[in-house]
Amino acid sequence: MPLRFFNTYSREIEQFEPRNPTARPVRMYTCGPTVYSRAHIGNFRAYIFEDLLQRHLELRGYKVHRVMNITDVEDKTIRGAREASVPLQKFTEQFKEAFFEDAHTLRIKRADEYPAATDQRYIDRMIEMISALISKGLAYQADDKSVYFRINKFPDYGKLAHFDLTQLKATGRVKHDEYDKEHIGDFALWKAWDEADGDVKWDSPWGPGRPGWHIECSAMSMALLGDEIDIHCGGVDNIFPHHEAEIAQSEGVTGKKFVRYWLHCAHLLVDGQKMAKSLGNFYTVPDVLAKGYTGRELRYALLRVHYRVPLNFTWEGMNEARESLARVDEWLARLREIAKSGNLQHPTANPTTAFEDALDDDLNISAALGFLFESIRETNRAMDQNEMDAASANTWLEWWKRINTVLDLEAETEVAVPHEVAQLAQQRENARREKNWKRSDELRKRISALGWEVRDTKDGPKITRGAGSA
Ligand code: AMP
Ligand code: ZN
Repeated sequence: MPLRFFNTYSREIEQFEPRNPTARPVRMYTCGPTVYSRAHIGNFRAYIFEDLLQRHLELRGYKVHRVMNITDVEDKTIRGAREASVPLQKFTEQFKEAFFEDAHTLRIKRADEYPAATDQRYIDRMIEMISALISKGLAYQADDKSVYFRINKFPDYGKLAHFDLTQLKATGRVKHDEYDKEHIGDFALWKAWDEADGDVKWDSPWGPGRPGWHIECSAMSMALLGDEIDIHCGGVDNIFPHHEAEIAQSEGVTGKKFVRYWLHCAHLLVDGQKMAKSLGNFYTVPDVLAKGYTGRELRYALLRVHYRVPLNFTWEGMNEARESLARVDEWLARLREIAKSGNLQHPTANPTTAFEDALDDDLNISAALGFLFESIRETNRAMDQNEMDAASANTWLEWWKRINTVLDLEAETEVAVPHEVAQLAQQRENARREKNWKRSDELRKRISALGWEVRDTKDGPKITRGAGSA
C-alpha cells in the first residue's frame, strides 16, 4: 500500500513521493524546542509524532535525514537570561541538556543534526537571505531600524494557513510597534538591538541586532537540507505565523517550492485546553516520572492517539498506558517461553501486515495498535488452549521485533529494577528454597506494594512492573 499523509498545504491526503528517493535520503525538518525553560509533555507529543513518522519511513525502507533546530535566541530566551543575570548561552545550555535527557527518556531517536540559531554560520546565512529579500523588494528596513518581510509582495502568503490577509493581527513574536510596519502582518526578519537585549547582538548591514524567529528556521533548514525539503513538521500552532513565514522567506529567496509535505500534530490538552507554558497547565517529563511512571509509559500515552486528533492528558490515561504495556510484556514473556521450548521450523502462524498498513494510512497509530491488541487477544487464546507451537511463537516474536522498530515500547531489562525490589526478590527466592511459603508470600506482597511483580519461571524469578501501580 502506498504511503499517504495529510498535507496541511493542500488540506488533502496525498501519496508520499519524496523528490528523489533513490539518490538521496528523505529530507525532514522538525521545529525544535525554544530553550527558555524545560519543554513540557505537550512539546513532546509533537516530537514523538515526528519520531513515529521517521521510524515508519525507515520501516518502509527510506533513509531519512532529519534536522531539528534549537531556538536559542528569541524574545523569551533573552528575557530569561536577563532575569537570571547570566549570559544567554549559559542560560539556554541547561534547557538544551534537559531537552536531550527527556528525549532520551521517551526513546525519541536522535536527529542527524541539531543546529542552534546562535551559531555564526547560520547567522551569516540569515543575513544573506534577508539581503536577498531586500534586493527583491520583498523586505524593507523600517524607521525602527528593524527589517520586515513585505507580505503584500508575496501573493502566496496565507496559503498554508488558508488565511485571508485582511484577518491578520500582530503576532506576539513581533517586538516592535506596528506603526513602524507597512502592513500589520509584516513580520520581523531582523530585530534592531535595544537596551533590553543587553549584549545579545550581531552586526549586520542594518546595524546591530538579532534575527527574527522565522528566518532562523528558513536559514537552518536550507543550510542543512537544501532549497527543497521533503517533509516539514511541527505542532498546529506552528502553522501560522511560523511556517507560513518560512515559506514566504525561503520561496522568496529561491523561487522554488520549499516543502513538499507539511505535517502538523494536534495539541496535547489538559481539561480541554492546550497544554502551554503561558497557561501554567503543564507537566514536564520529570513531573510524570516523579509520579512513579516510566518514560516508556509516557511514550505510549503520547503515541497512542492519531497525531491529528487532540489528546487529553490525564493520570487515568497514564494508568491505561501502564495496563496496555503490561499486557504486551506478559504476552511477549509467554511467547518467549513457548519459542524456547521446541523446534522453530515450519511455523503455522502468519501475521498479516495490517499494523504497518495502518501506519501507511497517514500514520494511523490508533488502528495499528488496535490490530496489535487484537493479535495479542487471539494469540493468548491459542496459548491458553495449547495451540501455539514454538515456531509460530517465534514468528510472532519476529513480527513484534519488526513493529517495535517503530513503537520502541519494549520493557527495560532487569537492570531498571530498583535495588530494594531486587533484594526483596532475592529474599523471597531464599524463602522458597527453604519452603517457607508464608514468608515467600509476604515478600511477594511487599514487592507488589512497590509496583513490581515477581513471576516464577523455570529460569528463576522474573521481575516486571506490576499493572495498576502508580
Ligand atoms: P516551542 O518550544 O514553543 O517552539 O514548541 C516546540 C514544539 O512543540 C512545536 O512544534 C509546537 O508546535 C509544539 N507544541 C507546543 N505546545 C504543544 C501542545 N500542547 N501539544 C502538542 N504540541 C505542542
Ligand atoms: Zn521552526
